Amino acid sequence: MYIQLNGIVVKETSMGECNRVINLLTDKRGIIKIFAKGVKSIRSKNSCMSQMFSYSELTLYEGRTGYTINESEVKEVFTGLGKDIYKLSLAQYFCEVMVAMAPKEEEAKDYLRLILNCFSYLENDKMNRDLIKSIFEMRLCTMSGYMPDLTGCRCCGQYNKENMYFSVYESVLVCGNCLDKSYGSLVRLGGGTLESLRHIAYAPLERLFSFKASDKVILSLSGITERYLLDNSYTRYKALDFYNSLNK
Ligand SMILES: [Zn+2]
Repeated sequence: MYIQLNGIVVKETSMGECNRVINLLTDKRGIIKIFAKGVKSIRSKNSCMSQMFSYSELTLYEGRTGYTINESEVKEVFTGLGKDIYKLSLAQYFCEVMVAMAPKEEEAKDYLRLILNCFSYLENDKMNRDLIKSIFEMRLCTMSGYMPDLTGCRCCGQYNKENMYFSVYESVLVCGNCLDKSYGSLVRLGGGTLESLRHIAYAPLERLFSFKASDKVILSLSGITERYLLDNSYTRYKALDFYNSLNK
């Protein structure tokens, strides 16, 4: 059976001199794995398509043992990401997270759209890279079933208190007056941080990147969203450790 879909390479491993095994994040089938025969040869018509971060429209043949590439048309290669070590390590981190958390063999249109938007903003410096990272981390968690409750203090219901705290463990807000009724570690949300978190979690996908945040808010967001993702995905990401070592 032939299937047409759009996908981006999120992992690639060399197999021998001319083959690659690639993991693609696709709109119709989520994460799929393909044995891409002969693609490391420069004469292969699928050589560009099978490289990391390449985004293509593909026709695949779905056989009993897996997929093979029938046709491919590269739409975007994001070469700019490879020219800056910060951008490259962040992009690799986004890919590692997708391999771990995106649906497998199931529809994943929004996941694909999220990573494409993040790559485009990152490559073209359209937004502070740590803010892109926070958007990616929190939004991906909400898509994967880890939607935090950011509506108000979970004890008294206060919506807009100055002194709000976020419980990463319980995924809820607690206000300063109700701190003793909560457990686990709490992160204080400075001015602007709560609004940004709400925007990232609740805004429609087409408006996700339409907001601004001060450097102070970005710093505070980074700590929260990274912990939130790591706590919910139970995985360590090599590229994240590397990215954080660069920022020390
Ligand atoms: Zn309260």
